[in-house]
Amino acid sequence: MREIIKQGLAFRGKKVTSTEARKTFKDQPFKLELIKDFAREKKQLSIYKTGDVFTDLCRGGHVKNTKEINPDAFRLTSIAGAYWKGSEKNPQLQRVYGVAFKTKRELEVYLLQQEEAKKRDHRKLGKELDLFTFSDLVGPGLPLYTPRGTIIINELYRELLRISKDYGVQEVKIPHMAKIELYETSGHAEKFKDELFKVKSHYDIEFVLKPVNCPHHTQIYASRPRSYRDLPLRFIESTAQHRDEKPGEIGGLSRTRSFTVDDGHTFCRVDQIKEEAKNTCRIIERFYKALGLWGDHWVSLSVRDPKTPEKYIGIKADWDKAEKMIQEVSKELKLGGKVVKGEAAIYGPKIDFMFKDALGKEIQLATVQIDFAMPKRFGLTYTTAGGKQETPVMLHRAILGSYERFLAILLEHYAGAFPLWLAPVQVAILPISQKFTSYAEKVAKALREKNIRVEISDANETIGKQIREAELQKIPYLLVVGEKEIKSNSVAVRKRGKGDIGVEKLSKFVEEISKEINERKA
Ligand code: ZN
Repeated sequence: MREIIKQGLAFRGKKVTSTEARKTFKDQPFKLELIKDFAREKKQLSIYKTGDVFTDLCRGGHVKNTKEINPDAFRLTSIAGAYWKGSEKNPQLQRVYGVAFKTKRELEVYLLQQEEAKKRDHRKLGKELDLFTFSDLVGPGLPLYTPRGTIIINELYRELLRISKDYGVQEVKIPHMAKIELYETSGHAEKFKDELFKVKSHYDIEFVLKPVNCPHHTQIYASRPRSYRDLPLRFIESTAQHRDEKPGEIGGLSRTRSFTVDDGHTFCRVDQIKEEAKNTCRIIERFYKALGLWGDHWVSLSVRDPKTPEKYIGIKADWDKAEKMIQEVSKELKLGGKVVKGEAAIYGPKIDFMFKDALGKEIQLATVQIDFAMPKRFGLTYTTAGGKQETPVMLHRAILGSYERFLAILLEHYAGAFPLWLAPVQVAILPISQKFTSYAEKVAKALREKNIRVEISDANETIGKQIREAELQKIPYLLVVGEKEIKSNSVAVRKRGKGDIGVEKLSKFVEEISKEINERKA
């Protein structure tokens, strides 16, 4: 490649007939097959030449001259077998992968990022940190959380609940299945046609595992007569959903067949939408700040495409009001939201919080969705001040989305080094030798009394090995204890990322770490 670049060869394209093309590539059976396909589809054929050294059947899209390629800024990254036309019945070919950039620096940044992403792969980190597992007996796409992984999931839930309680939410609980009629009414039976798991009863009814939770929540709303004074009603819960994903698409925690979502549905009047959306955005901001992710995002105010009004359901006047409200929410909370036309759901406008994952890929995490349709489909009503029956509006909210996908993102974002409040083990106690294990127990007890998650490491190992092990586990604080520490009732503190930060009285350390955990700092 470097030789060719140096020669400064021009790329020249030429349109050809299939007869000409067949003649040029008469010894290349695969190309002859392509030429036949193209002729059948009546596609224009073209040939490209690189100087006189290389001729190929090509649609084009080239640099004009090989000199335009920076010889220091490309890299052949890998080779792999690939079946002709993607079918395993066909012969296997060798495919060479490469990347090219404008500058050497850009290439280096890219390669480094790939390297880093490999190290941060959540499947690898999840195993090393003992957070979750899969079992052939349980089945593919069905994650199992270990005790450590469960701590993280529960901490995330507790934090969400703690913040949400400030905004008047109520917890509810629903079963994992329902009759198909529930989803026929909601419209999900059609939407998730191929992804529904069916559960047969021994008696009469066929059930499906729930692919979403909204329809169940409407039935809690519908369980009693509601008045305008009862609204808003805010139901939240974290509960499992099931979707029959294609085997080829299942991978790690990013795409699973069973996943738990932090779901919430608010039933309110049209004039309450703004305040409810605002409060949900406040919850989102507080939660993402505790994780250090606030600021790494942008907000999409997803509204209708004015050119295709027929695509949306509901009354135009309600839509107009709701779209105006979400823009006001963004302005008043300084969310800096961008209005994105055509991104609304068919049932209403949305506020979507977009983040970037460790590889720079954009993903939607938190969302607030206004829904004029579902309450109508289920015939939900409330009595107005004037004694009339009206349909409430439904707001769907998700703060972290699926816990599985969220854990994968967090693992890759932190490279496994969770913030103190989330870390499965917050403190490791490292006795210098067997002699000091009873003092280590005493330190552990003092910490556990304050609900701090502690582990005592194996005193049979050298202190150097104990430190290395604890560091590999990315434990935020390590406390080394020996003769000196016992005498002064203290601990020698090592902080993750900082190393040795000195000796402290045990009582002072307990007080400080408790404060740090309660602050929920990222
Ligand atoms: Zn919903």
